[in-house]
Amino acid sequence: MTAKPEDFSGGEIETGRLLFARPWTFRIGVPSLTLVPPMQGIEIAMAGRSNVGKSSLINALVGQKALARTSNTPGRTQELNYFRPEGEGTDIALVDMPGYGYAAAPKDKVDAWTELVFGYLRGRQNLKRVYLLIDSRHGPKDNDLEVMGLLDKAAVSYQVVMTKADKVGPKGLEAAISATHEAIARRAAAYPRIVVTSSEKNEGIDILRAEIVRLVAGN
Ligand code: GDP
Repeated sequence: MTAKPEDFSGGEIETGRLLFARPWTFRIGVPSLTLVPPMQGIEIAMAGRSNVGKSSLINALVGQKALARTSNTPGRTQELNYFRPEGEGTDIALVDMPGYGYAAAPKDKVDAWTELVFGYLRGRQNLKRVYLLIDSRHGPKDNDLEVMGLLDKAAVSYQVVMTKADKVGPKGLEAAISATHEAIARRAAAYPRIVVTSSEKNEGIDILRAEIVRLVAGN
């Protein structure tokens, strides 16, 4: 099952535009568990391998070119970065989780990542969903599957978002989507609908906004 524009009423997409029309700002970078802010409002989070296109997707989602930094130096940003919309409206934070899967990451870096991320995920009751980004060219890799396992273990609802769909032809895209469906099929906490996006071509971004709005509205 893959989300298509017709799955959403115009109303939901319009509300999403309103939520995402508010300017978003960076609030805080959290390098360690002791500094995670108190639970307040709703949180959603974005996770994915380094270079999956996470910063680009966040920027596309909020319609701001430079909210999240793109092409970070590998391994540099081991922080949970909090973004919030300004002004009146839903109290929501988008948490940009540190990328994973650097080939050269030493074991202590990986352990620090796991401690921070799993510590954050566990018992974070206001965390409504993690959007797990997977590159359309590759489909799920071993470390994506490991992170799915972590999310299942923490019992946090997650939904897969395919990125960089413009970089692959229709056959390759279909193969990556079906491999992803297979990977999530029997996973307890995985949401069955996959969203396919291209930040470059601004495709699927409205659908992702609508998914978030639907989630925030509690549907
Ligand atoms: P991050 O490390 O996950 O935050 O990834 P970035 O957002 O920095 O993107 C990594 C690289 O992929 C950059 O060179 C981006 O320009 C490129 N990129 C990101 N999203 C897309 C996309 O949708 N299409 C294409 N063609 N390139 C993309």
